[in-house]
This record gives sequence, C-alpha cells and structure tokens, in this order.
Amino acid sequence: MAMIPVDDALAIALDVVARGARAATTKTRVERSANRVSAEDVRATTPHPAFAASVMDGYALNARASAAAMRANDDGGATRRWEFEIVDDEASRAGPAKATRDDEGREFGAMECAYVTTGAVLPRGCDCVVPEEACEVVREGSGRARADSSDVVSGKWTRAVGSDVRGRGEVLIAKGERLSAYDVGVLKYARDVVETYEPPRVRVLSTGDELAASASDVAVRGCVVDTNGPMLEALCGEEGAEVISRDIVRDDEAATRAAFEMAVADASCDALITSGGASVGDRDFVKQTIEGLGGKIYFRRLAMKPGKPTMFATIPRATGPPLLVFALPGNPVSAAVTFTLIVAPCIRALGGVRESGLRRIHCVLDETLRLDPERAEYHRVTLDWTRGNLPVARSTGAQISSRLLSMRNADALIELPRGPGVVEKGAIASALLISDVRHAKGANMEKIQWPKKSRGDESRRSNEALDSIVTVLDAEGSVRDLKRVVGLEEDARRHCRAAGDCVDALNELRMYSDGDSTHVAVTDAQSPGLRRGIATTLERLRVVTPIGDVITKRAYARVGLVGNPSDAYGGKCVAFTISNFFAEASLRRTPSSKRVTFAPGPYDGNAFDSFDALSTHVSQHGVDGGVRLLKSLCCNLMRYCESTKQRIDTSCGFEMSYTSNIPKQTGLSGSSAIVIAAMRCLLEMYRINISLDDQTELALRVERDVGINAGPMDRVAQVYEGAVFMDFTKPRASTACGWRIHGEYTRVETDELPPLYLVWAKDNESESSRIHADVRRRWDAGDADVATSMSRLASLADDVFKAMATRQINVEELKTSIDTNFDIRRALFGDQALGALNVTLVSVCRERAGCAAKFAGSGGACVVVCENDDRARALKEACDAHGFEVERVVVRK
Ligand code: AMP
Ligand code: MG
Repeated sequence: MAMIPVDDALAIALDVVARGARAATTKTRVERSANRVSAEDVRATTPHPAFAASVMDGYALNARASAAAMRANDDGGATRRWEFEIVDDEASRAGPAKATRDDEGREFGAMECAYVTTGAVLPRGCDCVVPEEACEVVREGSGRARADSSDVVSGKWTRAVGSDVRGRGEVLIAKGERLSAYDVGVLKYARDVVETYEPPRVRVLSTGDELAASASDVAVRGCVVDTNGPMLEALCGEEGAEVISRDIVRDDEAATRAAFEMAVADASCDALITSGGASVGDRDFVKQTIEGLGGKIYFRRLAMKPGKPTMFATIPRATGPPLLVFALPGNPVSAAVTFTLIVAPCIRALGGVRESGLRRIHCVLDETLRLDPERAEYHRVTLDWTRGNLPVARSTGAQISSRLLSMRNADALIELPRGPGVVEKGAIASALLISDVRHAKGANMEKIQWPKKSRGDESRRSNEALDSIVTVLDAEGSVRDLKRVVGLEEDARRHCRAAGDCVDALNELRMYSDGDSTHVAVTDAQSPGLRRGIATTLERLRVVTPIGDVITKRAYARVGLVGNPSDAYGGKCVAFTISNFFAEASLRRTPSSKRVTFAPGPYDGNAFDSFDALSTHVSQHGVDGGVRLLKSLCCNLMRYCESTKQRIDTSCGFEMSYTSNIPKQTGLSGSSAIVIAAMRCLLEMYRINISLDDQTELALRVERDVGINAGPMDRVAQVYEGAVFMDFTKPRASTACGWRIHGEYTRVETDELPPLYLVWAKDNESESSRIHADVRRRWDAGDADVATSMSRLASLADDVFKAMATRQINVEELKTSIDTNFDIRRALFGDQALGALNVTLVSVCRERAGCAAKFAGSGGACVVVCENDDRARALKEACDAHGFEVERVVVRK
C-alpha cells in the first residue's frame, strides 16, 4: 500500500467516522456542561437585558423631552447647567421593579429625574442616566439635581432591551460546539439543562515485550517504560473522550488477538488506539490481527515524518457500528504526532464536534530547516510572541522520533512540505497548535502602551492596519532591500494591473520595520490586486528566500497534454509545467575567488555503500549524474555570450548545487529541469539577456552535448512555463544568435481544464528513449502509415489548442482526444517499444477507473483526466491495487 499524504488520510478517516452511528446524547445540567459538546442549537427565550436598565448609580431622566424643552433658551453654544426635579417616590434600585410592565407607572417628562442604581429598571419615559458624580444635588425643600447639558443625551449610561441578546429565537450556542466556561454562563440565559453528546469511549493498548508499567519496574536491560499508554490516555481526555481501559499487551499473536477481541465484543467501545507492533517486524502482530478479525485497512503508511507506519482500520461487529482502530507507531513522538494529526480530529468528530479538523496558525521560522525529499515533516517548535507580529518558531532540538523530550514544551508542529532544499530562516510556515498557548513560554509580553491620543483619525488608521493580518516578509532585509530582493514591488504592480485596479500600488503598501524584521500589513481596505500581489510574494518566500549572495531558482516538471511532440515529424502539441515536481538550483557567489565549483547532487556520487548500491544508482541515474549537465550548461552559455557579444564577468566565481524531486524514469523532463533551473541562476548572476526562444535552444544543446536524446518540446514548456501550444511546422531563425528555433510557441490559459492526475510506477525499468528509433526510419523512408498517424496527432493538438484558447473546453471531447492520442501512438510504436508496464499504467487508468489517459512524456508516467470525485476515488483505488503512485496535478501558471 502506497504512502498517502496526511490530509488524504485524515479525510478518509473522518469520512468513515461520519458514516458511522451518531453519538448518543444526554441531558446535562448546565453547571456541569463545561468541556462537553452541545447536541442542540440552544436558542434564547427572551431578549437580554429584558428591561431597559441603568448602567450607573445616578439620576435617570427623560433626555429627549428635557432637551426639547430647553432648546428655546439654548443658543447652541457652550455647555450649560440644567436643573432637574428629583421625584423621590420613583427611585429605582436593582431588584424587582415597582411597575411590572413597561407601560405602567408614572411617566417622566422634561426636567424630572429619579435616583437609580446600576442594574435598576429605568423609570418609565427615562432614556438617560447622569452618573451621581456628575450631578450636583440640592436638598432644600423638594430635591433638585443639576447636570451639564452635554451629559443629557438620549441613550447615555443606559442599557436597551435586547442589547446583549436581541430576542427570542437567537442562537446562543450552536449544535456541535464544545462548551467553554463562558458558554456555561451564556447557556444560563436560557437553560438549566442542555442536551450534550456522550463522550466517545476508547480503549488504549500499548504493545511490546519490552514494556514495563512503571520506571521502578524497568530492572532488566532491554526494557523501557510504557510512556505511550498514559500519554495517549491523557491526550484522549483532552479531546473529550473517555478512556475505558488501558493495557499493555505482549508481542504475542494470541494475546494481541485476545485484546482486540475484547474491544470488538464491547459494543460501547467506539475506538481502539494501539501503539507499537504495527510495522513489519516478526513480532509485529497488529496488522495480521486486524486482518484475522475480518477488518478493513484503509491506510497503513503515511507520507509524514515522524510516524510513517500509521494504520487506520475498522473491524466489523455482529451488530452495530464497527470498531475503529487507530494503530499508531511505537516510537513515542510518532505516536504523539500521529495522534494529533489523525486520531484527535476523529475523536472530536465522534464526540459530535462540528468543526473537528486541524486548526492552523502562521509563524516565522527562527532557523533554516532542511526539507525531507520524501515526506512532509511535522517539526516541533516553541512559539515566541515577543519579537514580532507573528510568533517566532524555535525548534525543540533533535527531532528523532524516540526523543519524547522534543515534545516537552512544544507549542506547535510546523508543517514542512516535502521537497528538495531548505526553508530559510525568516520564511513563514503554517503550524498546528498543540499546547494551551496561555502557558506558552513566549506568552508573557509586556502590556502594549497605547498612544495617549486614542481618538483622532490618524491613530484609527494605524490601528486598522495593526488589526489586520500582519505578515513578516523577511527577517533579514530592510524595507529597501526587501523590495529589491523579493520583488514585492513588481508583484504588487503586476497584479494591480492585471486586476484593473486603479491604484498606485506602492502608496497602498504599508510596511513596518521593527528592528530586524519587516512586516507588510494586509488589510481589507487594500485592493484585491494588491493583496494578490502580496500573496504571490509570500508564496515565493515560503519556499526559499534568496538573500544576499545566494540565488535559488526552480524549473518544473513538464506534462505533454496532447499531440505529436516531435519536431522531426512536423509535430504540434500542447504541454504544460506542473508545480508538483521541480528541480532547484542554487548558486552562491564567491566574489573573492574565480573558482567554479559544482556540488554533487542526488544524481551524482563517487562513493557507494556496496557494489549493489552502485549498480542500482547507475541503473537509475546513468553513469554520469547531474553535474555533467551543469558543466555543459556553463560552457554552452559562455559560447552563447561570445556569439551575442555579451560579456561575462568571470572575476567572480561561484559554487553551484542542484536538487530535484522529479521522479526518475517518468518522462517528466527531470534533466532539462536541472539545466533550466541552473541556467536561470546564471542569467540572474551575470545579468545576461537571452530570449525565451534562445533559452529553449540553449537547454537543448546542453543536453545533446552530454548525449541525452532530447527534443525541443520539454524545454519550451519549462522555459515558457504554464501551458504552451507548439507548432513545429513553423521553424524560424533566432534574431540574436541566428540559431534555428524549432517552432512557433503560443502560451495558452489552463483555467478551464478539468482536474488532471499524474500516475506513475516507482522503479519503472521500461526504456523510453529507444521508442523513436524504428518510427524515425519509417518516416524517413516515406511510410504512409507513419505520416497519417503523425498528422492525426497534430490535428488533435490543433483542436485542443483551439478549445483552450477560446475557453470552450468540452470535457468529453478532451477525453476522447487524449484516448485517441494514446491509441494512435500505441498502434504506431507497438507494445514492445512502449514497454509492458507503461501499457499497464494507461490501461489501469482507463479500464479500472474509467478515466482518459495517455503518457505525460515518452513513457513512465500518465496524465489522466478525472472530471469528478468518484472517478478520482476509483483511480486512487485502482492505483493502490497496482502499487502505482498517483497525485493530483497542479498546473503551474
Ligand atoms: P514498534 O513500533 O513496536 O516497532 O516500536 C518502535 C519503538 O518504539 C521501539 O523502540 C519500542 O521500544 C518503542 N515503543 C513501543 N511502544 C512503546 C510504548 N508504549 N512506550 C514507549 N516506547 C514504546
Ligand atoms: Mg514492538
């Protein structure tokens, strides 16, 4: 079973939970309902407050009538002292009022007042209270109170009916909300009893011969204390579950089965959470126990670190919903992290919580972190809010999965994507909170000293910016450097122009610098184009921030959508680049030296663990790796510059490295991606101008020089980026260097394309590069079949291009074009040349999942049209069954 991404795994598990029985509900006294989940919409029965009340101790009066009466004497100028007659009989104090209805009792008119206390019912007709301390009371004869006319304002110091809760029927608490202490108070507006969900009931099982229940029992060498069981019990409690048993089971088949059977037999048990024993060791019995009990395993391996061997299954029961089984890895950190990512949301959902998924925040990395090329990593960090507007994330140290201390004091898990290279210090990362942030280390900042002048326009404007999401762009750069380095200014201008925003983007950019960090405020008041521009900059920064003397560039994998991609046969095709896979090159300038150094990358190597390892490496990457491409690139670029009379200042040397996550042997243009990424670094460093067309030809020459059998199509898509229609019947000459440009290239929008997937087999040995040999010979000999097939392929490309260009893509027609494309090709080359595994790839997608599919390149990976979710699910199942990898394509625009 393939490794699946965490998000997919969580969706699968939540889907199973949602399809299970609904949690039972029970009536709970409101006083005891904190931390439980409401099973009903609780609605108000009355407005609150239910009567107009005073919010001060003072004198209530009828401001409207009084002001009207006094208007005659008022010149509208300075404040005056007005005098009111105190009606002692009508004094109102908090508590039951004299009048039971608001239309009962004495109606107050102009210049009358009555003493009131905080919370008292306002006497009839009163609409204002003047606080006691603002009144001067004269007690000779009948009492009088004097107040400033500016305090006599209707509504002042009073609380209107329904100002907290508008009225009967208003939802106070919604179904599916976990009740906080504050909610307990709110519930009391309407209720003494509330319907809540019964907490989910779970059993916790630690597996392992080495486990002891207490540190004092760890007498024998080789034993360890069971940390997982108690930790998982506590975590379940935090999520609102009730743990009905916690046991240790030995690595024994019968004992494991007995423990599972007990959970299955207990109809009140919703889920079993195990740790350990779930991988492939000869003492790991969890998987076979689940299978032995007729269970269904939904996933077994997650593309995450830590926690790869994580299983989710259901075991059927004679009656009632099946038992949910979460089999977590044994290493304590892996168990803790997989619990947080997969089990906790499911427990919340089981307990009726409506929004049970993961919650994220953004934070700034305090150090550069290396990415894992295979798996997303959940890096433990503490958060420090004292340094900027976003919390700064600091690693808790060594992240090995047995070191539980890496969880201690951790506030969050940073979600690092899989990929080559690093995420630089200062980049923004998304993180899942795992602590109560009230107790986080950095949550002890000084109180903010607000400026004294807290009203006027000026401070309101700056508060508005502070209220908004404020994002740290670059921990290192000053504002000026920041613009130059990361291109924020350009992004902002470009997107404003594209969105037709008539604003001067830079005037609208609000930046703050607080010492070593620079922040950009994103506010609702900004134009959509500007916000998109900032988002684009952030997107780029999130991965690698080129700062100072390091230049990092990417080039993306290429997918051929339709057509005949070969210039040799008068071809036409549509191809595009995808964000899923890319090569990345980094170039560090060494101004003090002319030396040029290439670091070995993933395709290179001069030392191997064994003969076998050497042989596997060479079969995957060839005798020469990726560095030869970089060398060839530098030489070809020198020649190009000489011929176009551009000077390269070679007094400054560099160190160049590359990396790539493009799967090998998939025909996704892995080698040209390295060349183009590296070329982009060099163009930037030496400020060389080369037209896109010349770049495509240069990349082609670089590869042909090292013996790669390459055509122009891949390089065109990768240099241009996005989708491109290529017409190889129209070659031209380059104006700069006189080279022959193989065709005419037109960019085309991809917005209307239906969802596309990529399917490939790992370790596919099929030889795709020999495919052309025989067909080329037949073409040269004027074979009519070959000519007809090639022109049919070209006309498919014409049709799809036309549909894309006019934004009138018909999904069924596109599917037919793609299938026809493959069929023509198959007939032309024959199955032997295509490779048996490659043919199976396409037929699994087509026959088992009902999708349209063809090779994405010359073989190894297919591009598949999956127009709806059912198809996508069918495709995933079919691919899982065959051990094929499948990923949704993200078209790079
Ligand atoms: P396993 O997944 O059973 O192969 O265990 C992997 C590692 O986790 C081993 O080093 C075990 O000793 C350790 N381990 C397994 N279960 C626990 C547990 N309940 N508490 C602490 N460590 C454990
Ligand atoms: Mg074990």
